Amino acid sequence: WYHSLDNFRNGYLPKHWDAARGPWSEAHARELFRSVLQGYLLSLRAMIQVGHRVISEAVILPATRDLYLDSLTGVRVFLFGVRCPLPIAQERERQRADRHKGVPIELDVPEFDLVHSHGPYDAEVDSSVTPLEDAVAIFSAALSSTPAAFGRMRAEQTAAEFARACIFCEVVEQTRPAHVIYETPATVAFLDQLRQPHDPAHVLVIPKAHVENIYAVDDALGAELFAAHALVARAVKRAFGPEGITTWSSNEPGANQEVPHFHLHVYPRRFGVPYPPVITKPETPVADDVLAQSADRLRRAITDLRSGT
Ligand SMILES: [Zn+2]
Repeated sequence: WYHSLDNFRNGYLPKHWDAARGPWSEAHARELFRSVLQGYLLSLRAMIQVGHRVISEAVILPATRDLYLDSLTGVRVFLFGVRCPLPIAQERERQRADRHKGVPIELDVPEFDLVHSHGPYDAEVDSSVTPLEDAVAIFSAALSSTPAAFGRMRAEQTAAEFARACIFCEVVEQTRPAHVIYETPATVAFLDQLRQPHDPAHVLVIPKAHVENIYAVDDALGAELFAAHALVARAVKRAFGPEGITTWSSNEPGANQEVPHFHLHVYPRRFGVPYPPVITKPETPVADDVLAQSADRLRRAITDLRSGT
């Protein structure tokens, strides 16, 4: 059973693609492309799950690699590469009759070199020099081996995600400076370096372990986090006397979680001071001496609260 991604793209009338010619088009068009790609991949998965042997033809770019890996988890995948030099790809593109308004897709883009950048294939041919029958023979022979390339791509992705520096883990490991005001065996609280309100006492309380969001917080950690969270709120109230305090956590990008390490906010409020704060990018960090003074006041308040004075 064979379907190319183009079959799915063509499910949308040309007008939907006017500004959208692929993964390197404008942002709104990229979104449409991405969701069509995701639907395509999940359809392939569904066909495989009910027993079909599926041939798919698509371009794997770094920006869409995660969709391939997520959609085809647990499925046996052979990765075969068909490449050719840019001038030949452009000539073939010009010969195509099925492109929108007959306009070929521009292939001379930085992404052209990324198409095959995900690492080795289970088998590969250069279609400008390998005759079709030879290519078929090469791929047929490879099918009797054990697929390895897709698994390797997944392992590399996982390693890359792990290695990507987490700024809150750096605070925990003290490799990134922060104004820490309180610490327990499993949590640490420090001043947010960016968004400080009228009373510069916007505090973040985080688990020391790299827990991505609230879904992974277990009972014991939750108890310790919330106890620290409440103590910090009392300390902010005591040290700064705000007229109110807002607390929250944002979980997943859909909720605008910006650092993928769970964090609880403590945010002092004043009547007449707008909330939420207006964020202009790029943001300027709050002056270090302002944060240092706040941290001192909060540490003293915590000491007082804990000693019952
Ligand atoms: Zn982390």
